This record gives sequence, C-alpha cells and structure tokens, in this order.
Amino acid sequence: MQPRKNIALVAHDNRKHELLEWAKFNRSLLAQHTLCSTGTTGAVLEQGLSIDIIKLRSGPLGGDQQIGAKISQGELDFLIFFWDPLSPQPHDTDVKALLRIATVWNIPVACNRASADFMISLPLMAQDYRRLVPDYEHPGLQLLPARLVPIGHESDPPF
Ligand code: PGA
Repeated sequence: MQPRKNIALVAHDNRKHELLEWAKFNRSLLAQHTLCSTGTTGAVLEQGLSIDIIKLRSGPLGGDQQIGAKISQGELDFLIFFWDPLSPQPHDTDVKALLRIATVWNIPVACNRASADFMISLPLMAQDYRRLVPDYEHPGLQLLPARLVPIGHESDPPF
C-alpha cells in the first residue's frame, strides 16, 4: 500500500449526511488519497467536498458489487461504509457480500464515525504499508497467520 491510498466511501441514504459531515471535517486528509464511491454517495461527496471522486453505479444497482470486485482485484485499500443498521435495504445481500469480501481480503473497514476517525488519523495512513492477505492459492492448508502473505508477494498473482 502506497502512502496514497485507494479509499472507498459508501453511505446508505439515512447516513449520507453523517458521512458528508465526517468527510468535510477530514477533507484535507481525504484529498491526499484516491477516492471512489457508489453513485449517489459519490455525487453527494463530490459536490460537498469539491474533490474528484470515482463514481460507480448506485449501490442498489450494483455499485456495492463493483466495490467488492475492486477489493478482490487488489484495487482498494480501505472501505468506509456507513451502512444503515435501522432500515431494511433492497440490496441487503449486496451489502453483506461487500462486508464479507472486505474481510476475506483483510481490508480495513469503518462502519461508523468513530471507527472512521481512528482510521483516518492513524500514522499508517501516510506511510507505505504491507497489508497481509491470506494465501487462498493453497486451499488445503489451514489459514493461519503464518499463511498470510503480503499483497504483491504471492508466488502467483491471485487476480
Ligand atoms: P448509493 O449506494 O451511494 O448509490 O446511495 C449506497 C448503497 O446503498 O450501497
């Protein structure tokens, strides 16, 4: 992971305002990274922050899955996902899949403002960092920390 990180920012409708407030407060830090969002979140953030954001499809139309695909292809370093714990979502399965794939690939995830605060202010954000990724190329072996390999150090590219 380079000092310039690839960060995905997503918020469900009831939490877009909270994400925007958080992003405004951290605008100068966020501006140092490459940002990507689901469609509506991205439009809200781009307008509120005046920062270019890569906008994918809206979440319910496949945007969450696009972010999941980027994670599995090694194109994202962080996921900030303010999901709504109090409202049913039509694309609940996509939300669950996104959270699952982020865990599979050892991607740091912040689902609320306090976690996002800690994440964005960690010194590691500004440094090179080797994220460990489980070695799924050897499925017969137990996934122990010893089997973790830094991304970019796999014997064969997993992607
Ligand atoms: P949206 O999608 O940014 O297009 O609203 C977010 C989501 O519901 O996953």
